Amino acid sequence: APNRVPNFSAGPATIPTAVLSRAQEELLDWQGRGLSVMEVSHRSKEYLAITEKAESKLRSLMDIPDNYKVLFLQGGASLQFSAIPLNLLNGGRADYLTTGAWSGKAVKEAARYAKLGLGETNVVATGKESNFTDVPDQSDWNLSEDAAYFHYCANETIHGLQIFEPPTVAAPIIVDMSSCILSQPIDVSKFGMIYAGAQKNIGPAGLVIVIIRENLLGQASEWCPLLMNYEHQADKESMSNTPATYSWYLAGLVFEWLEEQGGVAAIGKINQQKADLLYRTIDNSSFYNNPVAPKYRSIMNVPFTLADSSLDKVFLEESEKAGLLHLKGHRDVGGMRASIYNAVPLEWVQQLVDFMIEFEKKHA
Ligand code: PMP
Repeated sequence: APNRVPNFSAGPATIPTAVLSRAQEELLDWQGRGLSVMEVSHRSKEYLAITEKAESKLRSLMDIPDNYKVLFLQGGASLQFSAIPLNLLNGGRADYLTTGAWSGKAVKEAARYAKLGLGETNVVATGKESNFTDVPDQSDWNLSEDAAYFHYCANETIHGLQIFEPPTVAAPIIVDMSSCILSQPIDVSKFGMIYAGAQKNIGPAGLVIVIIRENLLGQASEWCPLLMNYEHQADKESMSNTPATYSWYLAGLVFEWLEEQGGVAAIGKINQQKADLLYRTIDNSSFYNNPVAPKYRSIMNVPFTLADSSLDKVFLEESEKAGLLHLKGHRDVGGMRASIYNAVPLEWVQQLVDFMIEFEKKHA
């Protein structure tokens, strides 16, 4: 078996070994055709079979209702920060909840278009006062009366703060699920639009998935670039131009792998076990700390600090020597961060926890 090391990267992140092995097997000679998936037209019958299968698997994994379009686009989650107002603001007012770096970037980008006369953006609340370790109570939010949409980020990858249930608001809910899509079951019908960059739970970078309710299509500003226009991309089946063909193929393989694991509910249980194991280790020690309010602790990204931050460097050096990779926290919050997406097995988290306990014994 290949030598795969425990990799806790926040993204691009671990891809299941079985998926990479299959891609390797198929690389030079895909289905006996004597060429690779990368080398065929995106409009060929053979390639379209891949995209259709990927979409139908994602629809079944997430139980996506028929009145939603599923788009496989480029530009990452960040380009959606621009596409959302260009498609949906349309002279109106949009509500944004700020719970960390990514939801903060989304509203900042939307505000640029608002300044150009496209409409208004309104931050309903921000968790900044708590350093994004908590979310202000909904009774204190400043919601607009007729918002075109309400935007939030379900999982703040940097701060390790996750909102598990969408809030009850009148406006269509648009959610950034880049770092938590497919990690546990959700009810898609509660959302107007879900979007997620692929490079955490779906596959390699270069692909972003947009799941949008059909009644939100057809309102784009005339300035909206054609490639960012959701209605146009839905009409063209995400092939207005050449899509990220290989990333799309790999995403399909990841969906198949996830099905083989028992689907989202089954992986969700393992994700919960992984997160519980890490948080328990952190909470049982005064050497480690995680500052996030317990009900918002992310099951995908677990940041933690050392009581003595002068040991951070030593922790990172020794963990790397022990073969545990990419544990450095984001520069905005410091300390460490373990990203434990779907493809990270429980055994890796156990190895990390064993290392943490040993490290504490040695250095406390
Ligand atoms: N939203 C979230 C929650 C993220 O974690 C990231 C990337 N780490 C982004 C948006 C931006 O994604 P991209 O780099 O694909 O634009």
